[in-house]
Amino acid sequence: MGTRPTGKLVYLSEPEQLEIKEYEVPEPEPGTVLTEIEQANVCGSELHIWRGHHPEVKDGVLGHEAVCRVSELGEGVATDYAGEPIERGDTIAPAYFLTCQRCPPCQEGQFNLCENAYTYWSKPPEEPPHFHGTFSTHYFVHPNQYFYKVPADVNPKVAAAANCALSQMLYGVDEVGVDWNDTVVIQGAGGLGLNTIAIARERGAKTIVVEGVDGRIERAREFGVDHVIDFREYETVEERAKRVRELTDGVGADVGVEVAGVPQAFAEGPHLLRQGGRYLEVGNVNPGIMSEFDTGTLTRKGIDITTAIRYQPWYLQTALEFLSKHGDDYPYEDLIDAEYDLLDAEEALAKSDTREITRAALHPHAD
Ligand SMILES: [Zn+2]
Ligand SMILES: [Zn+2]
Repeated sequence: MGTRPTGKLVYLSEPEQLEIKEYEVPEPEPGTVLTEIEQANVCGSELHIWRGHHPEVKDGVLGHEAVCRVSELGEGVATDYAGEPIERGDTIAPAYFLTCQRCPPCQEGQFNLCENAYTYWSKPPEEPPHFHGTFSTHYFVHPNQYFYKVPADVNPKVAAAANCALSQMLYGVDEVGVDWNDTVVIQGAGGLGLNTIAIARERGAKTIVVEGVDGRIERAREFGVDHVIDFREYETVEERAKRVRELTDGVGADVGVEVAGVPQAFAEGPHLLRQGGRYLEVGNVNPGIMSEFDTGTLTRKGIDITTAIRYQPWYLQTALEFLSKHGDDYPYEDLIDAEYDLLDAEEALAKSDTREITRAALHPHAD
């Protein structure tokens, strides 16, 4: 037998402390796929973890968004999770979490809530197979980790983000229900918000975005949003609610989507909706951050609230299909505004943190 290749990875040993580690790449276990990373993205969650704010992931090999090239198939792996034959050299997109099929949520079919989602991601890099995150030259896709072949007409650069925001919002929009001719008010035009605009538009809905940052407003317009409510102009909840009513024949939006990530946005949600409206909460993910909430308005208006954390893993296939059909109609490619070598991950994180750049891609170069 020949010798095994070696690879490098970016390890977060403690908040804001990165180390580049090098390991021999083990042979894939049965049911596992060994891949080489083509591109990994710096996502908001990485910044969150890097700063030490993530409730579950405190250290470990960073990275969850990626497209990878299959380099070795473990025993028994012949297809992706849609049954498509898979072979060495194929480009795939993996879900960034596991669905163990055995924990209580998995037993209920709530795979997005799997209690063992991060079994490998949170492991220290010394522990084989070392390459637990996507800020690496190599990456192992484990049994019970959904993955799909990237369709030939999808730009791999764009597909690298499919396993995060797009999959999550496709799932969320299905959970809350968006129908033809609905008006959807989207609070926040970051990556989640832009994807929501695209999805809602393809469902035949009208979109309103509430945002107050010029660059984000510009992007929302490039994604085809119908109306923008700039909160620097409409300064209070009352003014914004009135503006939504003006844009909806006096009734309020059918659906609200919170992707601003501040509790005040959630508290504002019911005021923007019509009687019997529906609301999707996605952006607030830090436990323990409080906001006052007008429960009476919620009840009297008869509003249904639902949430979306991660996604049912088959939504990753929907996301790739969405990109295959509609990817060219939206400026997805422009969302990446900086490219770095893997070894410069620290700079990519620091500049993302200060918002000098909005979305960085990392490329490992085999040496
Ligand atoms: Zn992400
Ligand atoms: Zn589970």
